Amino acid sequence: MVAAGLEPGSEVITTPLTFCATVNAILHAGLSPVLADVDPFTQNLDPAAIEAAITPRTRAILPVHFAGHPCDMGRIMAIAERHGLVVIEDCAHAIESEYRGQAVGTFGDFGCFSFYVTKNVVTGEGGMILGRDEEHIARARILALHGMSKDAWHRFGDKGYRHYQVVECGFKYNMMDLQAAIGIHQLGRVEQNWARRRELWLRYDQAFANLPVGLPAAAEEGTRHGHHLYTIMVDEARCGISRDDFLEAMNTARIGTGVHYLSVPEHPYYQQRFGWRPEQWPHAMRLGRQTVSLPLSPAMTDADAQRVVEAVTAIVRHT
Ligand SMILES: *Cc1c(COP(=O)(O)O)cnc(C)c1O
Repeated sequence: MVAAGLEPGSEVITTPLTFCATVNAILHAGLSPVLADVDPFTQNLDPAAIEAAITPRTRAILPVHFAGHPCDMGRIMAIAERHGLVVIEDCAHAIESEYRGQAVGTFGDFGCFSFYVTKNVVTGEGGMILGRDEEHIARARILALHGMSKDAWHRFGDKGYRHYQVVECGFKYNMMDLQAAIGIHQLGRVEQNWARRRELWLRYDQAFANLPVGLPAAAEEGTRHGHHLYTIMVDEARCGISRDDFLEAMNTARIGTGVHYLSVPEHPYYQQRFGWRPEQWPHAMRLGRQTVSLPLSPAMTDADAQRVVEAVTAIVRHT
């Protein structure tokens, strides 16, 4: 967000159905987040809602490829071009995702990836930025290490000591060699892990087809889903159990679940700072109040998946 070089107070349009980091990154850069509602089916930013949220101060769009489902980058890039906006893609869920044969994270000016422990490449903490503009990436590199003009390694080269210059006030966001050493060996397994998650995904789809739960949208023709999260919707009226009671029942069955995510305006910080109310983005609000992420990991056996299927089937009402 900082390397994009937007003037303070610029508005950045993003989704309310995301991890708080997406919005916090905008705030830490001194910019102003503007939420646009999601498509209730794909759970991704709705391009029509983006257009409706544009003001004279809008400078950027920050789409999140939610759960690995690629956003409609055709329409988002067309909107960005029409209005002269920067696009920064949040690819935390989407290492493997493609839109019309092109990897997500390569459409916008920047693509941002996370290697946090819950993601599909893990370095403990850390991540990666892709950029199309070399100057932007050079600036991101400098910002990531205190704002120093030469990275730390080159300070101690064979040619003797070289002075570095601090050219701006940067951060401590560099990746350690230790982290890189852990991460690099996972790259070779990304595809096979994806294939296993896909198998489990299809198994769930089949097993839940006749239950009253909502199922995740399949990827559109010509796109590739990252299959990062398998999220079902538990609507109390249809399932005979509230989402939170469902989570409790799964826990009692010794099966871990997640919630991705309560919509951003459900949290007190944003309500107090911006006066946001969840009702302003009704699709994100409903999804956030009904969604449950089921176990989805390449380490799962078929028997593990079967246990999940049996627990879900036992907990929801039968029709
Ligand atoms: C995990 C996540 C992030 C943050 O990544 P960190 O590496 O933990 O900072 C941002 N956006 C989304 C959608 C995420 O899931």
